[in-house]
Amino acid sequence: MSCSRRRFLAAGASITTLLAGAGLAGCAATGPSASALAPGVTRVRLGDLTITMLSDGFFSPRFDENFVRNAPFAAVQAALRDAGLPTDRLEIPLSPLVVETGSQRILFDTGMGEFGPPTTGRALGNLTRAGIDPSSITAVAITHFHGDHINGLRNKAGALVFPNAKLYVPAPEWDWWMDDGRMAAAPDAMKGQFANVRRVFGPIAASVVRFRPGDTVLPGLQSVPAFGHTPGHTAFTMKGGGRTFMYWGDTTNVPALFVRNPDWAVMFDMDAEAARQTRRRLADLVVRENMLLAGFHLDGSAIGHLSTRGNGYAFTALRG
Ligand SMILES: [Zn+2]
Repeated sequence: MSCSRRRFLAAGASITTLLAGAGLAGCAATGPSASALAPGVTRVRLGDLTITMLSDGFFSPRFDENFVRNAPFAAVQAALRDAGLPTDRLEIPLSPLVVETGSQRILFDTGMGEFGPPTTGRALGNLTRAGIDPSSITAVAITHFHGDHINGLRNKAGALVFPNAKLYVPAPEWDWWMDDGRMAAAPDAMKGQFANVRRVFGPIAASVVRFRPGDTVLPGLQSVPAFGHTPGHTAFTMKGGGRTFMYWGDTTNVPALFVRNPDWAVMFDMDAEAARQTRRRLADLVVRENMLLAGFHLDGSAIGHLSTRGNGYAFTALRG
């Protein structure tokens, strides 16, 4: 029986407060349970929410002293060594996810689709392995407009991959990237990102829902301003089983570096200081409220628990 159903019965039945209290306590104590459906597909149940994490593969970026902007390379390599990771290269995992609420199937971010290196583009296959038809996705919620989060919306032939989904994007993100004057003034290295946003959203601009970060996007889906990584970067929370689940997109990149050292700035953060403050604010919130946490570039199943450690935090992924 679901937690909300038990609550309903507890509230409606003429049983003692004690019994009702015992029922609710049992519900609140029920932690999320994870199961691995296939390699790269993890399903987590949190009360009435079913969360399916989908690996899209990984990036192997050029790794040198520029990757972390404000820490000595030796310290960066030491942090990788401490985590048991190689110190001469990096892997950045990509993990979109689907949350089913009973009435909605919401995809959060998309992965690279057909537009990335061969180590990426696996999310759609993993969605099928999870038993979810792309045409059954009712909503896609986007944290920000970097390619790894939006490219999977449209294939190379131009067709929408989730044809029945309504798209929800943060208004400040839309306003920043869709500003033609800003695109014209941008350095050449960034013009491709502006063009990519137009390729994905241009033909459907009128139907994209632009929400204000902080607003309730859909019933049960709350948005949380998380600016810094990009001008409109936004996190989301949902409630299930008496707990809150947060998906924080790119608030952190490689966890061994930026969860453990939240004051470090990854080269992709567009406003490093705002991103640093957001990282601290959201991580403190997740720990304080004992939230279940998912992140696009977290490791393992990319969903789990956050705790404080030293001057930073530690992420422990759930295992199926
Ligand atoms: Zn990203």
